[in-house]
Amino acid sequence: MADLADRANDIAEAYAADGVAHARRALERRALEPCGCHWCGEPLRQANQLFCDRLCADDHATTQRRGML
Ligand SMILES: [Zn+2]
Repeated sequence: MADLADRANDIAEAYAADGVAHARRALERRALEPCGCHWCGEPLRQANQLFCDRLCADDHATTQRRGML
């Protein structure tokens, strides 16, 4: 039979595991989610793409650097 210290330890471990899972999800989240090219709006071939090609990615990056978005 688990005593009070064991139960407290289980609860602490569960909170820690939940915190780790939350932090992991936050790290996996990206600043931009795929929903078509973020520059020209073209549909994308792969679900994890953000831009249709290198030119759109470069144009977006240049514009962001200049603070125009
Ligand atoms: Zn594009």
